[in-house]
Amino acid sequence: MLKLEDTYRHKGQRKELVKLLRSKGIRDEKVLEAINTVPRHFFFDTALDSHAYEDKAFPIGEGQTISQPFTVAFQTQLLEIKPGDRVLEIGTGSGYQASILHLLGAEVHTIEYQKKLYEKTKKFMAKLGIHMHFYLGDGSQGIPEKSPFDKIIVTAGAPIVPNSLLKQLKVGGILVIPVGDRKTQKMLKLTKKTATTIEQESFDNFAFVPLLGTEGWKG
Ligand code: SAM
Repeated sequence: MLKLEDTYRHKGQRKELVKLLRSKGIRDEKVLEAINTVPRHFFFDTALDSHAYEDKAFPIGEGQTISQPFTVAFQTQLLEIKPGDRVLEIGTGSGYQASILHLLGAEVHTIEYQKKLYEKTKKFMAKLGIHMHFYLGDGSQGIPEKSPFDKIIVTAGAPIVPNSLLKQLKVGGILVIPVGDRKTQKMLKLTKKTATTIEQESFDNFAFVPLLGTEGWKG
């Protein structure tokens, strides 16, 4: 049974985590405030929740993970979220990253490939009273019928930048996606300057579970 208790101890641990993220180079105060606010331990299985404020990824079932807090903060910082942004997240997982985006004022659309995780997280977010849009399916192709998006974040490692995602981004929009092999990836920030021009920045070095599907890894 999930305990939705946020104690002084948890709050203190979050403050320490924020200090650590600041020391690792996260500078966006709004992102740090969101990390300070969202109880990451709510998104853990009770057996592991004492680890929730370590700067590490942890298993969430179905062979998947909740991303490391530094990675969540780094990707969110790159997205430059503004209130009202329509954001597509690929890889709902535990719902933690989506909750951070929601708290920053984004209209969150999040898609998950694994049915069990999709069902569990959708139900849990309803319990938390957080409103966002959940989809089950292959996010490597985006969600064309819901596009265009101001921002797209991919939270699984891709072999290439899926063309579909670039197509579904507004001009002026930002796509943040880890791209590499199955073990390590570079974080790419792609800004759509015009309908045909993309500006790219790249950051070392991340380790995500694979993005599966048509424009991801096969199997
Ligand atoms: N954002 C998540 C969180 O905050 O807990 C962590 C995501 S976990 C590192 C990556 C997730 O991407 C997994 O839940 C996995 O099932 C999902 N995934 C992998 N390929 C996908 C695809 N093609 N479409 C949607 N989700 C996918």
